[in-house]
Amino acid sequence: MVLIDAHAHMSDGAFATDLEAVLQAAAEVGVEGIVAVSENLEDAQRVLDLAERFPSLKPCIGLYPDTLDVEVAEAMVSFIRAHSDRLVGIGEVGLDHWVVKEAEEWEIQEQTFAKFIALSKELDLPLNVHSRSAGRHTVRFLQEQGAQKVLMHAFDGKASAAMEGIEAGYYFSIPPSVVRSQQKQKLIHHLPLDRLLLETDSPVLGPDPACRNEPKNVVISCQAIASAKDVSVEEVARVTSANARRLFPKAFPSSGSS
Ligand SMILES: [Zn+2]
Repeated sequence: MVLIDAHAHMSDGAFATDLEAVLQAAAEVGVEGIVAVSENLEDAQRVLDLAERFPSLKPCIGLYPDTLDVEVAEAMVSFIRAHSDRLVGIGEVGLDHWVVKEAEEWEIQEQTFAKFIALSKELDLPLNVHSRSAGRHTVRFLQEQGAQKVLMHAFDGKASAAMEGIEAGYYFSIPPSVVRSQQKQKLIHHLPLDRLLLETDSPVLGPDPACRNEPKNVVISCQAIASAKDVSVEEVARVTSANARRLFPKAFPSSGSS
């Protein structure tokens, strides 16, 4: 069984002392690759360095949407351009109405996000998108800006909003916190399997919010999808990995048996 974690923060301090063991544990349950996202410039460099040492980490560079500094955003755009040959995607980027509450700040957030969407088209790299408390708005904004290759990660909006994304051709990744979230169970129920990916958002969004999450827990997402869709775990692994290969061709170039 091959599994792919489509969104994890492996440069986080939570993994500073035992990253190698964490990756080994993930490999043992079948995790073939981990899309390692970043949140800021220092983090971006760390992700690139880690990806050199650990080939299962696939670097995805972006700016977390709580950064509202236009100059920092420009610097990140330049960083992505400079390293684009090594990147499998752009992220974590997006919109956040949970931490950022003021309308004028949302405007800056949208201007920044629009830059990353334009860059995604220019460099032909998929977007790994955050949309906390702004699900429907983010899906519509992506469409307005003409985004085509999109992963909506840990989507917390309504299934009807997610379906607008499905119609636009977007993918959705499901974290292990699905086991304690009715909203995410509803999402799985409504969204077609051929648009779902597995993710962990490590070190957060695990099955127990008090414990560090790690990539081996994509198995939990896989099981949750299998039981909600009434298909086998193997089938969910096969289809979600094929979906990940389709969306992140630079990370997972060989199509293998799926
Ligand atoms: Zn994240």
